[in-house]
Amino acid sequence: MVTIPTVTLNDGTAFPQLGLGTYQLDGADGADAVLAAIGNGYRLLDTAVNYGNEDAVGAAVRRSDIDRDEIIVATKVPGRDHGYHETIRSAQGSLARLGLDRIDLYLIHWPNPRVDKYVDTWRAMIALQEEGTVTSIGVSNFTEGMLTRLIDETGVVPAVNQVEMHPYFPQTALRAFHERNDIRTESWSPLARRSELLAEQAVADAAARHEVSPTQAVLRWHVQLGSTPIPKSADPSRQRENAEVFGFSLSDAEVAEISRLERGRLWDGDPEVHEEF
Ligand code: NAP
Repeated sequence: MVTIPTVTLNDGTAFPQLGLGTYQLDGADGADAVLAAIGNGYRLLDTAVNYGNEDAVGAAVRRSDIDRDEIIVATKVPGRDHGYHETIRSAQGSLARLGLDRIDLYLIHWPNPRVDKYVDTWRAMIALQEEGTVTSIGVSNFTEGMLTRLIDETGVVPAVNQVEMHPYFPQTALRAFHERNDIRTESWSPLARRSELLAEQAVADAAARHEVSPTQAVLRWHVQLGSTPIPKSADPSRQRENAEVFGFSLSDAEVAEISRLERGRLWDGDPEVHEEF
């Protein structure tokens, strides 16, 4: 089993430097896959109402013999539940589906700026944190402008912003803003969904030099840029491979070479215009 190191969030929580994406891990097979990941050392599990698998993730946590306090279950408020009272109700629904008595990390899934309710949603998350229903609060797919607005209007800085990030979209400017404001970056689709990324020369060269797989080189790139990647894998051996990225370091030149693969988002997921409900 791998020990995945942690960093400290702005609220004092110890937060893993790598976690498990769970999109499409559902039903009994999904619960088995999540349980295997916990056995492989994963302590951060990323689910969402809209993945339809909070029940499978919660079942795996309950079946695991790892102490509950060592696992961070992250779930997300969907766009259709934006608003103060709606968010409070949404959290209760998530808790019931998870079968857990608290949410460790609660995120706003998408900002949906045209609806313009993310500040009210954030106020509800602050209240949920104050009453202890939720331990850490953060956002997903927020831009610098949206983060600034949340902070200016509520005084509470999100602990995490989970955003699209991979070598094709390294999020250089947003990461710098996160660093200045002590917001932890989390990378979704960190492997760019297993596209041609893994065959890129810069990735293959770094992998060969360190005698690791291309996937491990990419995940190490995230770690060294100060982001927590959440690769999804249903397969226990690929889960292990993905977690074994703490025994080597890329050089600054290798990190820079991989970052030069930048070409843009995987799909049209610009949070200024893309909305999800
Ligand atoms: P990803 O993690 O970049 O890629 C997942 C794909 O890579 C799967 O097809 C998986 O297949 C394969 N894979 C994993 N490890 C591998 C390995 N070692 N070798 C070869 N192939 C490997 O993509 P993602 O699922 O889109 O993103 C990860 C997580 O981010 C999601 O599961 C979800 O939790 C989160 N997410 C959040 C948002 C948001 O808006 N906040 C959006 C998208 C995703 P196998 O399962 O067969 O191994």
